[in-house]
Amino acid sequence: MPSEFELIRRHFTRPVSHTVLGVGDDAALMRLRPGMQLVASTDMLVEGVHFTAGTDAGDLGWKSLAVNLSDLAAMAAEPRWALLALAIPAPEERWLAAFSEGLFRCAQRYSVDVAGGDTTRGPLTIAVTVFGEVPAGQALRREGARPGDDVWVSGRPGTAALGLAASSGRIALDAQARSRSLGALQRPQPRVELGLALRDLASAAIDVSDGLVADLGHIAERSAVCAELHDDWLPWAELATLTPDTELARQCLLAGGDDYELVFTAAPRHRDALLALSATAGVALTRIGVIRAHPAGCVALLDAAGRDLPIRARGWDHFGAQRR
Ligand code: ADP
Ligand code: MG
Repeated sequence: MPSEFELIRRHFTRPVSHTVLGVGDDAALMRLRPGMQLVASTDMLVEGVHFTAGTDAGDLGWKSLAVNLSDLAAMAAEPRWALLALAIPAPEERWLAAFSEGLFRCAQRYSVDVAGGDTTRGPLTIAVTVFGEVPAGQALRREGARPGDDVWVSGRPGTAALGLAASSGRIALDAQARSRSLGALQRPQPRVELGLALRDLASAAIDVSDGLVADLGHIAERSAVCAELHDDWLPWAELATLTPDTELARQCLLAGGDDYELVFTAAPRHRDALLALSATAGVALTRIGVIRAHPAGCVALLDAAGRDLPIRARGWDHFGAQRR
C-alpha cells in the first residue's frame, strides 16, 4: 500500500503557476498582488449529507472545488489558490486518480493553484478552502441592495434540482432532459467571469446554493429590504422544455439549490449594460424582481396582477426543517 506521502505526490501535486511555495512543505506561501484584498471561503462535502455513496469520483472532484469558486464569484473575487482537506475510508488508487482528475480539471479551467491540503483516514469528507483576490473595496456583499434596484439571476436556476429529483428516482425524464439536468447537478459551472464583470454593476450578490428564495432572503435580511419577485418574469421557459410537471418546475426554480447561479441586485440604469454583458459572456441574465423598502428581510412573490402568491418551499437548511 502506498504511503500517505506517496499518495499526495501521485495525486495532488501538480505544477503551480502563481504560488511561491506549494505542496510539500509545512505550509504554502502565496504573494498577493499590490492593491488586492484576500478573499477566503471554505465548503465541505460529506458523504451521505451532500452526496450519496457511489457518486462518481471525478464529478466529486470537480464539484468540491466548483462550489467554493462559486462563493468567490459571488464576492466578485478572482480565484487564485485552493487547499484540499480530504478524509477517505481507504487509499483507493482508482478513486483518487478519478477524483484528482476532476478536481484539477476545474482548477485549470479557473486558473487555481492547489497549494496544499491534508489527507487522513475517515468517513469520506472533502473540505476545500479557496482564496481569491479583489481590488481593495470592490468586493460584492449581501448588504448593498437598495430600494428601487432590480433583482437579477444568471443561467437557468432549477435545472440541477431537477437532476437531483431524476437521479434519486423521484421523477422520470427523457434522455436529453436527464443528461442536461444531471450535468448541471454534477458539474456546476461557477459564474466566476460574471462575478468579476458585476464589480461595477451590482449592488449586492449571492450564489444560489440552498435555493433561490432562501438565498435571496439573505440579501433581503442583510440589506434590510424586501425582495419582490415577479412570477411571470422568472425564467420558466427552459425548465418547461425539460419537464411537463409545472408544480415540480416551481419547486425546482424557487427552492432548488445546487445550481450555483448568481442572484444579484443592480440599479435600473445598468439594465442595458447587463443585457450586453449577458450576450458577450454567453450567460443568460434575467430580471426577476425589484427591491422595495418594506418589510425589511422579506422575499415576496407576486403574480402578473400584483397579488401575493404563497411560496411553499424556500430552500435548504441543514439544521432547520430541511425543505422550508
Ligand atoms: P503536515 O504533517 O506538516 O501537516 P502533511 O504530511 O499533512 O504535512 O502534508 C504534506 C504536504 O502535502 C503539505 O504541503 C500539505 O499541504 C500537502 N498535502 C497534504 N494532503 C494534501 C492534499 N490532499 N492535497 C494537496 N496537498 C496536500
Ligand atoms: Mg497536515
